[in-house]
Amino acid sequence: MTTETLFRETGALLAKFGIALGGGDLPVASPIDGSRIAAVQHHDQADLERMVAAAEHAFVAWRSVPPPRRGELVRLFADELRHHKQSLGRLVSIEAGKILEEGQGEVQEMIDICDFAVGLSRQLYGRAIASERPGHRMLETWHPLGPVGIITAFNFPVAVWSWNAAIALVCGDSLLWKPSDKTPLCALASNALFARAIDRFGGASEELRRGLSQVAIGGPELGQALAADRRVPLVSATGSTRMGGTVAPVVAQRFGRTILELGGNNGMIVTQSADLDLALRAILFAAVGTAGQRCTSLRRLFVHDSIAETLLSRLQRAYGDVKIGDPLEPGTLVGPLIGENAFAAMQEALAEARAEGAEVFGGERVLAARWPEAYYVRPALALMPVQSALVQRETFAPILYVMRYRDLADAIAVHNAVPQGLASSIFTTDLREAELFTAAEGSDCGIVNVNIGPSGAEIGGAFGGEKETGGGREAGSDSWKAYMRRMTTKINYSRDLPLSQGIRFPVDA
Ligand code: NAD
Repeated sequence: MTTETLFRETGALLAKFGIALGGGDLPVASPIDGSRIAAVQHHDQADLERMVAAAEHAFVAWRSVPPPRRGELVRLFADELRHHKQSLGRLVSIEAGKILEEGQGEVQEMIDICDFAVGLSRQLYGRAIASERPGHRMLETWHPLGPVGIITAFNFPVAVWSWNAAIALVCGDSLLWKPSDKTPLCALASNALFARAIDRFGGASEELRRGLSQVAIGGPELGQALAADRRVPLVSATGSTRMGGTVAPVVAQRFGRTILELGGNNGMIVTQSADLDLALRAILFAAVGTAGQRCTSLRRLFVHDSIAETLLSRLQRAYGDVKIGDPLEPGTLVGPLIGENAFAAMQEALAEARAEGAEVFGGERVLAARWPEAYYVRPALALMPVQSALVQRETFAPILYVMRYRDLADAIAVHNAVPQGLASSIFTTDLREAELFTAAEGSDCGIVNVNIGPSGAEIGGAFGGEKETGGGREAGSDSWKAYMRRMTTKINYSRDLPLSQGIRFPVDA
């Protein structure tokens, strides 16, 4: 793929979504070769102001559309996604540097969450609760919440938005999306497909067309403005722990709600009884896949002493065989890092590891002669003497810190001794070990897997993590409740008015 063909292909892909960019002040580069593939116009505070107002108007219209009918719009959107899966997936690969299967996989996740949301649109169940008062009925009902602000990270440029969007839409909310300024094209393309679904929906008012789903393009300052806006009752923010630490207090100060999906530092324990063939494949996929740039990437590996030599020598061989290169070429397994800063952070972490006595394999830059403006690296294995402060922080790059252990309870304690709490896994064929890891005294993460790696979430379950990962949950299970407001209602069908605590207020007849 040459720079010229990348530029032209991006333009052609955007045209398929009906997008003709007239240029702008925000250059968009592809991590594949570092070249400019487009320029978009960023939005300022005044634009955001207008967008929030439009989202409010759309919400007022959308909230009274019956939920199954809202589901119909999401079904139409899924149709568009199915039809354009190839093109949107390819745009993800070009803009975020993911290999082809991962780009397509993201769009499939969008389709899956839409299907889930369509079913959900008929299942936004409340409940009838036993009242303590005679002649009374008590109900719990869920109502639409309002405009939802969605801030997303570069590494899942379309799927994470859809996890929020599909559910929020059937819940009756409008959407205002601030994507990463590294991946605005994927956002514009996704929203263009959504606009086509609205066209096919039939009878959508001008308010809905204009304000049901919008994209605000900009950097952290625009995210901050969205977080501060009182008209946005829920901000779902995906990104680094640093970002969450800034967004959360701003939203809390105005008594808004957040769903925080922040950094992870995901671990795996491989026990004495593990099936090593399975473990090896899982480690490779989770540590090396997406060039280590998934929130759920495997970053810490705890191996039982008795199998450490065998597993590590097989792992080193497997790391040596991984094909690194152009993510658009079939067969490539590791594409580029998102950019120079990511590369610098990785090299800094590896230097620190060496200084702490680690033995490091890989980690060097490759393909620099072919792509001097892009950053491809060989994934690194770092055999650490202990879980130092370095290992306790998330470096968003393919570094796997490996540590040995003797006692499972100790390994679990070390595993849990990091600030993040997103995804974790254990490889074992021993029922007791598996049960311990998933028990209350086991892993403290939001995602706890047995004989499957930490990455590769399924939309049917609630996705998110504890501690500095933010505590938010999105996608499946009952995550939808975060996008609605809960109403408790008592209905008195008696001829009496029993007051609380037996108090009587005499009123003359
Ligand atoms: P980032 O924090 O730099 O940016 C994420 C988004 O937040 C972007 O849209 C950015 O413009 C915005 N932003 C940044 N600072 C902000 C601020 N102060 N106020 C408001 N908005 C702000 O993250 P990134 O580099 O794009 O993505 C990588 C990080 O995201 C990693 O830490 C990764 O673990 C995390 N991540 C988490 C999940 C999850 O579900 N837990 C999913 C994907 C990525």
